[in-house]
Amino acid sequence: MDLSKHAYFEGKIVPLSEANVSIASHAFLYGTSVFSGMRAFWNEERKRLFIFRPYDHFRRLLHSARMMAMQTSHDEESLIQLTLDLLRTDSWKQDIYFRPTFYKADLGIGVRLHDVSDDFCIFVMAYEKYVKNDSNAHVTFSSWRRIDDNAIPARGKIAGAYVNSALIKSDAVRSGFDEALALDQNGHVSEGSAMNVFMARDGVLITPPVTDNILEGVTRKTVIELARRELGIEVVERSIDRTEVFAAEEMFFTGTAAGITGITKVDHRLIGTGEMGPIATQLRTLYENAIYARNPKYEHWNIAV
Ligand code: PMP
Repeated sequence: MDLSKHAYFEGKIVPLSEANVSIASHAFLYGTSVFSGMRAFWNEERKRLFIFRPYDHFRRLLHSARMMAMQTSHDEESLIQLTLDLLRTDSWKQDIYFRPTFYKADLGIGVRLHDVSDDFCIFVMAYEKYVKNDSNAHVTFSSWRRIDDNAIPARGKIAGAYVNSALIKSDAVRSGFDEALALDQNGHVSEGSAMNVFMARDGVLITPPVTDNILEGVTRKTVIELARRELGIEVVERSIDRTEVFAAEEMFFTGTAAGITGITKVDHRLIGTGEMGPIATQLRTLYENAIYARNPKYEHWNIAV
């Protein structure tokens, strides 16, 4: 893993080796941190790095922090500024992935959310492809259920909740699949281990609603907008039954790390023709042009570093 030289930690930019939390910290003991996985993309023609939709990522992060009863004086603008300062320190000239995190920083035991102070940090790494077969993923239905909003909210990007994602991912990969689809408590398709999901039926794109125990993905939101505006495709947010998947013409995952990953097989049954479909393919091109700041129409999504 190619990590950054510097991190933002305890209110300043420091060498990464100095950005360490104690084994007695609340976040380490109880998983009480919230984060966002964000990316910046190197545009070779313009010789500039662009962060993709930082305002939306930080807005979601602040909502997650609120769920965890964290109190921060930061807002979206101040978080963007900190990020810019950090990314400029290491002069990145390639695609990168970074993790802004609010964490419960006090030392000592006592499981609770109240009366624990929190802090903020960011580290950066070079981006590595997330799903190996990103145009022909073979996916299974996980035997693990997606965490429920009334247990641990999937809507919040809460570190401890990623035990659920880790169970979903590892059991799928160790059984020979690339990824898994998790069902929620009602048996509806929610999402992958760290990505949202879409299917096409009769030319209409369908994705689970934000009330079906999903993370409110920034890529999901981007794809919905691109599909409607650029492809004129109807997009419907509604619950998806397990067996509907086998009637889909196309399926794909969306996520900051996963990009647009074509799902071509689910539990040994082909999806559509068994190849990444035309809607997913077109959306990937549109999405990549947007993230690399190659489409002036969507440049309001990019912030230059
Ligand atoms: N669902 C989960 C559980 C995730 O961890 C992620 C990755 N952040 C996503 C969906 C996709 O969200 P986004 O498009 O904002 O990266």
